[in-house]
Amino acid sequence: MSKATDGILLIISGPSGVGKGCVCAALVAKDPNTVFSVSATTRSPRRGEVNGKDYYFISKEEFLQKRARGEFLEWAEVFGNYYGTPVAEIQKLLQEGKNVLLDIETQGASQVRSVCPEGVSVFILPPSFEELERRIVTRGSETQEMRKIRLAQAEQEIKLAEQYDFCIVNTDIEETANAVLDIIAKVKAERQLHND
Ligand code: 5GP
Repeated sequence: MSKATDGILLIISGPSGVGKGCVCAALVAKDPNTVFSVSATTRSPRRGEVNGKDYYFISKEEFLQKRARGEFLEWAEVFGNYYGTPVAEIQKLLQEGKNVLLDIETQGASQVRSVCPEGVSVFILPPSFEELERRIVTRGSETQEMRKIRLAQAEQEIKLAEQYDFCIVNTDIEETANAVLDIIAKVKAERQLHND
């Protein structure tokens, strides 16, 4: 049971390449009370990614052991790799009043929505499909084959947007981050009112 003083669990989802990671980084920079939940993954680090900051980069074997021990709030297999949200820290941070950001794909988001109904879900949309394609190409970290797979997946995921509490078109990272901060403030005020 959560209290009004607890932080908000924010489920930030949307297609790969839409800018969820940049939006989360901008949010953390803008609001000291909002923290990022670092996921575990079996994918190899991209250039510049830091273990323990961007992800916990672990082996498939270690991931499966953690999963078997129930250490993940949710998990999903995405493009041949496993991703999971470590549950241990999240509860503690929420009780300390921190807002916790989960940057997760849509299968994981739907698992969290069902086990944590008090979570607030935000779907990030690209301004257009062409723009999403451009962003994935610019990132340059995938092969052409992988880009095709990510775009086909994105087309399916965008259809799920209406299941979310809020949808934001990510035209500008700062504006999107400010829109999420407005959502946090609105939800906090509603919960406070409800508890008074
Ligand atoms: P990438 O490999 O580009 O970092 O991430 C691929 C996808 O996995 C992205 O849509 C990202 O949001 C998602 N993702 C990252 N961490 C998690 C997680 O812990 N759980 C789930 N379900 N998806 C995740």
